[in-house]
Amino acid sequence: LSRSLEKAQRLIGKTGTLTAENMKEPLKEVRRALLEADVSLPVVRRFVKKVEDRALGTKVLEGVTPDVQFIKVVSNELIDLMGGGVGAKDLEPGFPQIILMAGLQGVGKTTAAGKLALYLKKSKKSCLLVATDVYRPAAIDQLVKLGTAIDVPVFELGTQVDPVEIAKRGVEEAKRLGVDAVIVDTAGRLQVDEDMMGELRSIKSAVRPSDTLLVVDAMTGQEAANLVKAFNDAVDITGAILTKMDGDSRGGAALSVREVSGKPIKFVGVGEKMEALEPFYPERMASRILGMGDVLTLYEKAEQAIKKDEDAKKMMDRLLEEKFDFNDFLNQWKSMNNMGGLQMLKMMPGFNKVSEKALYEAEKQFESYAAIINAMDEEERTNPEVIIKSMARRRRVAQESGKAEAEVSKLMTAYTQLRAQVGGMSKLLKLQRAGGNQE
Ligand code: GDP
Ligand code: MG
Repeated sequence: LSRSLEKAQRLIGKTGTLTAENMKEPLKEVRRALLEADVSLPVVRRFVKKVEDRALGTKVLEGVTPDVQFIKVVSNELIDLMGGGVGAKDLEPGFPQIILMAGLQGVGKTTAAGKLALYLKKSKKSCLLVATDVYRPAAIDQLVKLGTAIDVPVFELGTQVDPVEIAKRGVEEAKRLGVDAVIVDTAGRLQVDEDMMGELRSIKSAVRPSDTLLVVDAMTGQEAANLVKAFNDAVDITGAILTKMDGDSRGGAALSVREVSGKPIKFVGVGEKMEALEPFYPERMASRILGMGDVLTLYEKAEQAIKKDEDAKKMMDRLLEEKFDFNDFLNQWKSMNNMGGLQMLKMMPGFNKVSEKALYEAEKQFESYAAIINAMDEEERTNPEVIIKSMARRRRVAQESGKAEAEVSKLMTAYTQLRAQVGGMSKLLKLQRAGGNQE
């Protein structure tokens, strides 16, 4: 096994960076994955071109193939594009916050309006829902029912009043009631048309919303890019809600939204219930769109392996320098804990023949040592002789750490012994290195 690993490493060593050549195959794979996830074709083209340019010349991490490295770069770009690493985006502030819902018919606007009202309520904000979908009587009933279910008032004027007028009076009502937020639900159409956009524009200029949220069905598919462009051009959205993410869709629409409008996705809908609203997490979404989670896991493993190697190397370097103060004593113990705790202790000189129970006790012991060392000042820690020689200092450290003086003495002995062993190891290492150089 170790020989085949070595061979693999040597091969990778030769292709240490991403080149046009070794990116060719994974590039195809990524293109296919994005199209399968329903990212719009022009968006895929632009995105892939950008990533290709950016990835060229990227160093390939030791222990992974160029394919894996390339997919890691793509994943990072996706995350960057969709969220810039800043975590979930919330609603814009406002007094009151005025949230205008936009989107085609059936995408989940009314449902999302209710979900947002509940979300605001949970963050201790009072809310008013406003029903302006006058084209279908059932639409008003739907919002009223939702409002009742989550105990949020709904403002409506039936189907005979102009939607713009309803929106305006709804906001006035919200101010009169003194609520923190008002959510204006609107009517969609089956397709983008001038009727809908005209109405949205009028409502928008009448109520001046802090947020104009485009609701997009995750199943929209290739059309998402055109759709987002049309709405963003007409009403300048502040963000989007991606609904029906509980379905099978890989959510490529998320990338299209972001790439076309530059606006963030603020929430995702994950079901029909009012509670089924989540903040948008770019990393989760990137992984879902790419559908290459296992490849990325591989990359992470390689990264961790390298970190372990580096930690071990640092330890060796300290040993070779023959420096070993209380900080080293503690660090070594800490890093051993991080790297698998008790198992690593077995590799310490003097610990190799000890039982599990004894090892457990040893760890407790080290914890006690850590408390004592933490109570030392900088001089004592880096120059152990000062405290080894001074009873007064030992007494003070015992008091400050809440340990017995005998325990402090025990630490001094343990430290001196370990230092002696380390000294021995260090000499051995030097001999080995000298031998290695003669080869
Ligand atoms: P509107 O026409 O844009 O107002 O859409 P509605 O809010 O009336 O929703 C249309 C349908 O989609 C309803 O049956 C909703 O229950 C359903 N729906 C909305 N959001 C989600 C979601 O996140 N997941 C699922 N599975 N269904 C949803
Ligand atoms: Mg509706």
